[in-house]
Amino acid sequence: MLQRIMFFFSFIMFAVALQADPGYRYEVDLNHVLNDRVKVTLAVPDLNRNTLKFQLPKIIPGTYTEYNFGRLVHGFTAEDENGQSLFVTHPDVNTWIIKQAKKLKTITYWVDDTYDLTEGKAVAGMSGTNIEEGRHFLLNGHGFFGYFDKFYDLPIQIDVVRPNDFYGSSAYPDVEVIGNRDRYHAPNYAYVVDMPMMYCRPDTATVRIGKTVVLISVYSPNGLVESSFLQQAYSRLLKSQAAYLGGQLPVDRYAFLMYFMAEQLPIGTGALEHNYSSVYCLPEMDQSVLAPFLVNIAAHEFFHILTPLQLHSEEIHHFDFNDPNMSRHLWLYEGVTEYFAHNNQVYSGMISKEEFLKRMGDKIQDSKTRYSDNLPFTKLSEGCLGRYANEYGNVYQKGALIAMCLDLELINWSGGEYRLVNLVSDLTKRFGPHKPFQDKSLIQEIVALTDKKIGDFFTWYVTGDRPLDYAYFFNLAGVAYSPPSDTFVYGLGDVQLGIDQETGHLVVNGIYQLNEFGRALGYKDGDELISVQGQPMPATAFGPYFKGIFAQIKEGERFEVTVLRKEGGLAREVQLAAPIKRIRRVLTPELTYRNQTVDRQDMIRKVWLNQV
Ligand SMILES: [Zn+2]
Repeated sequence: MLQRIMFFFSFIMFAVALQADPGYRYEVDLNHVLNDRVKVTLAVPDLNRNTLKFQLPKIIPGTYTEYNFGRLVHGFTAEDENGQSLFVTHPDVNTWIIKQAKKLKTITYWVDDTYDLTEGKAVAGMSGTNIEEGRHFLLNGHGFFGYFDKFYDLPIQIDVVRPNDFYGSSAYPDVEVIGNRDRYHAPNYAYVVDMPMMYCRPDTATVRIGKTVVLISVYSPNGLVESSFLQQAYSRLLKSQAAYLGGQLPVDRYAFLMYFMAEQLPIGTGALEHNYSSVYCLPEMDQSVLAPFLVNIAAHEFFHILTPLQLHSEEIHHFDFNDPNMSRHLWLYEGVTEYFAHNNQVYSGMISKEEFLKRMGDKIQDSKTRYSDNLPFTKLSEGCLGRYANEYGNVYQKGALIAMCLDLELINWSGGEYRLVNLVSDLTKRFGPHKPFQDKSLIQEIVALTDKKIGDFFTWYVTGDRPLDYAYFFNLAGVAYSPPSDTFVYGLGDVQLGIDQETGHLVVNGIYQLNEFGRALGYKDGDELISVQGQPMPATAFGPYFKGIFAQIKEGERFEVTVLRKEGGLAREVQLAAPIKRIRRVLTPELTYRNQTVDRQDMIRKVWLNQV
């Protein structure tokens, strides 16, 4: 996932900002929850306009999907200084237009949260908002606060009125605490989106790595995950990341805001990166079981500080919350980030070199199974909101493999003197958080820093349609690669399933990877599996149960899955059915470290993995 900062140093914007100081003043009251909604009040700055357009984002950076946060707003009211309502139109879900705006003094509305949305597209937990009275509030700014069109660079003050025993976790520096009112200051709207807050009874820990202070804030309703446990795991991880980056972490402060979900909500789980924090929405499970996953996901989000947060194109820098253009370089933003998250772990000895190869092999298998291997990655990037939305997941698989192969190619070309982490560092010096690169000239910039041979790499494997030549790249480091073979198997359609902690039933908790057969069945997030082929679901031993079913079916016959579907507060049984179709599966490739290597392979392997 991705993010950006917006700094417009144009004279006009600057003049507006001076004139309109002190900007927006928001208040949100967490002590008065009504129908699962909280009230937001905005004291409007004097903008001296006849008409104003108030907006909540359609999309936010890093999510690559349109969520329309305006749909959470109810009872929108605009008033003058005497409390008289002004005429408002609502031309689309994210927009309110106020005529007579010179009289406008106050806007109020009630906000719903996304965690229990029952209609429309579900918002992934880490990008959404939670209002759970007396327990937990996730205040992702884009779900609570809006901006006036053309005035997103005004400063914003946010007052959060909280329950007395709640603590507000965030990466905001200098929060003013006035009784049970926390006051935050943001220089502009983009900063508000970049600075989520989490409110609950505190379970927090702090890690200090060099000059960087890291807050770990956990909400785990049944206490299965504790901040003290993560403090140890993340301390080791962050130290290794600092070493990987040459000794220093790239920020002075950071916050991990972590929500662990006790019941299976029909929302996506995962994490979203920001400049100084990341938000996690994950199933609540025993922390020792979750530990390796929690390390991988935190490593990924933290490395996002490098890219796209500190190194990105104009599309991301000038991100338009309601009409964005997509950059063509997701291989850099998501691929490089994901690769660093794993390469760093083997480099520092947190995982073995065999485990590292296994993870890369799994990515090869997944990318060749689920996604097109001939789609140029730059095209995938540009089309990830529309035409290639189903290919988006490949940024974490083939995107990471592009980064790995590029790393090996750079080490080979430079005789071990230069690798991907150096290239990212040099590009960040050349550009940086306040100076975006031009999307179309990035590859030329990389060639200028390196070599024409590296340009060929991009022409063939990134802008071109050639599948990566894994045998060649792995061989550079003395790794033998035998390509994966195909097989055809029966399955449930590549639906993601979780176990409902209360009922013990399998529940659909992800449909974005459905294959053709899964799409024909028509699963929906939150569907609870009741029976398959008329055979009731067992309480345990799902493996043998499905094995038994798959042993009895034939291609082309009717396949039936009965689910309990909750819609509009009602639950009813729904029968899903489609003709049985076997699905091509790519097996994991064989990857082994050769014992017989030449010196150059040893050298490359040592630079690549910090071991031979
Ligand atoms: Zn990411």
